[in-house]
Amino acid sequence: MIQETVTYRCTRCGSENIVRNGTTPYGKQQYKCKDCSRYSVLEPSVKYSEEDKAQILAAYQERSSMRGIQRIYGISRKTLSKWLKKSQQGAN
Ligand SMILES: [Zn+2]
Repeated sequence: MIQETVTYRCTRCGSENIVRNGTTPYGKQQYKCKDCSRYSVLEPSVKYSEEDKAQILAAYQERSSMRGIQRIYGISRKTLSKWLKKSQQGAN
């Protein structure tokens, strides 16, 4: 089972010790890091474990169908192409 974990991290120190701090004039959620006191807008990122990633990439190698993989795992095309690029670079 693929577990999607959405995490927010401070872009400066990487701490997860952050609190919501209103929104920017553009309507984006703003956060404040309790560790380094930095205010920032953080994009939520969906995290997959290394096992999930390996499984999805292996499935892609077998089927060679990006659309199929997207449908099965609900992964975004952007994320999948990023992984593929990385794994292809790592192959050589
Ligand atoms: Zn911080």
